[in-house]
Amino acid sequence: MGGKSLNKYEIFKYTKALNKKIEYQENYILQLKSIINVSSLIISSLAKKDVLGSILEQTKKIMECLDSSILLIDFETNKLYFEALSNDKDIEALSDIRLNIGEGIAGHVWKTGKSLIIKDVSNDRRFCNKVDNKLKNITRSIIAVPLIVNNRIIGVMEAINKKSNNTFNKYDLEIFQLLSTYAAIAIENAILYEMAITDGLTRLYVKSYFITRLIEEMNRSKRQNYNLALIMFDIDHFKIFNDTYGHQAGDIVLKNTSKAIIKNARKSDIPARYGGEEFIVLLTDTNKEGGMLFAERVREIVKSVKIKKHKKNISVTISAGVASLKENEPKDHIEFIEMADQALYYSKRNGRDQVNFFKKE
Ligand code: GH3
Ligand code: MG
Ligand code: MG
Repeated sequence: MGGKSLNKYEIFKYTKALNKKIEYQENYILQLKSIINVSSLIISSLAKKDVLGSILEQTKKIMECLDSSILLIDFETNKLYFEALSNDKDIEALSDIRLNIGEGIAGHVWKTGKSLIIKDVSNDRRFCNKVDNKLKNITRSIIAVPLIVNNRIIGVMEAINKKSNNTFNKYDLEIFQLLSTYAAIAIENAILYEMAITDGLTRLYVKSYFITRLIEEMNRSKRQNYNLALIMFDIDHFKIFNDTYGHQAGDIVLKNTSKAIIKNARKSDIPARYGGEEFIVLLTDTNKEGGMLFAERVREIVKSVKIKKHKKNISVTISAGVASLKENEPKDHIEFIEMADQALYYSKRNGRDQVNFFKKE
């Protein structure tokens, strides 16, 4: 054998480097195995919240990092915003942060369409500390990758602060890029699904989705023996309102009404825009009294909201009808809706701006 033989120190150095490489590669294989599991996990639900939650949770696990976030592009304003964080409770604090193309690490990834790995952000001029300031956090290392579907960038995904004060390496970057290809498809599908089942103006569910869920919930409540309350709302004299103040002011009323409904609804409730200015809400595990209370609250909030128009403060009232599965025993979902509708019509005939419970006439 030619060449010079290695001394003890050199052998030690090479063995150490080799071991480190093996360790990285073993870890890489483990991460790859996890990716296969993740892909099926991420696409197992279409609900946006579940999809995002699952991506962020898996990111933390596979990337061995302390935090992760997903930013999406708002194509109307052409800005990036935080859609979800692994630390869910922090999302509110970031709700008003908007990043321009090229701004910060995420904005940079958006601009170039290329991933970034930054071992120490304090040495990187691209890093902007808007988020750290808001969250009172300290970012050290970051990997940011673009979320790309059909050659179109829809957002940026970040893994933040590798655990145990380590920094991210090139294997981490490859793994995160792989994860992002599944994540992007799952997020895009969830967004499209959400658009299909929700109404653009009010963000409430559309009628067809509501009916499907109502049938499901009625079947489930039979099996599990719990009650359901159904409420139908309709804005009073809305035609006159539109004719007097215009359709745009009318649309604000519709948005305010849906906000009042969403604010008072629980996670398990199902609120929908049933028609132009009619809303329907299914309250799960709720009796007659609970349904009446909910409807009254929404009625009062809507009445108290003032809209400025022609230098005047104006407001609208709404009427509601409530029906209950156990008290009224409808034979199917059609009759259940008819009951709430009849109660609503009673409220209208009886003077509007009120809530009534269904009674057989
Ligand atoms: P009532 O108290 O009996 O409910 O009177 P109303 O005028 O509200 O009753 P009606 O159902 O006849 O009128 C509904 C009006 O709602 C007609 C239309 O001008 C308005 N409307 C329906 N959809 C929309 C919408 O998407 N935007 C706006 N601005 N108005 C709408
Ligand atoms: Mg109507
Ligand atoms: Mg009306």
